Amino acid sequence: MSKTSIMGRFDSEKQEATKLSPAQAIKCKAHNCPLNGSMNMGGDGWLCTYHIKAFDGGAAEVTAMLRDNMRLINIEKTAAKLRPEEFDALQKNGGVELHELMQPVEGEVFSQWQHRIKQTVHKVFQKKTNDIVEEQMFKKSGGRNGISKAVRDLTSGVLMPN
Ligand SMILES: [Zn+2]
Repeated sequence: MSKTSIMGRFDSEKQEATKLSPAQAIKCKAHNCPLNGSMNMGGDGWLCTYHIKAFDGGAAEVTAMLRDNMRLINIEKTAAKLRPEEFDALQKNGGVELHELMQPVEGEVFSQWQHRIKQTVHKVFQKKTNDIVEEQMFKKSGGRNGISKAVRDLTSGVLMPN
């Protein structure tokens, strides 16, 4: 084997490795979280949209909530992977048992359908996460509203520098 081909192979392996690592790094670092991260915590790994809100408490509860709702997560993932022609076939053929969330609304085009599912799932998780975080703040503050508000300001991002 010539020197060039060895180097060529090494380069392609190296490219393979650099392709893989960002995908792994993007998993949400919260223990057992089933989602990918959406925000980098300054070289300290990634957090998903929901764990970002719970970094000051409630991370385990948020993970449990997400794990309890794997069906919704899978619905969103499946909808995101579906191809437009598959969506069309689905609408034409009908007769398939679908979760009500995945039932296309009359006149809805593919991109709207995908968007609606994504937004609906996001709203559900956001609401549940907010409830968990509020509950954690309330426990921490011992039920005193003043502290609860201060903690909320600290964690909501309004005091963060741009
Ligand atoms: Zn997470």
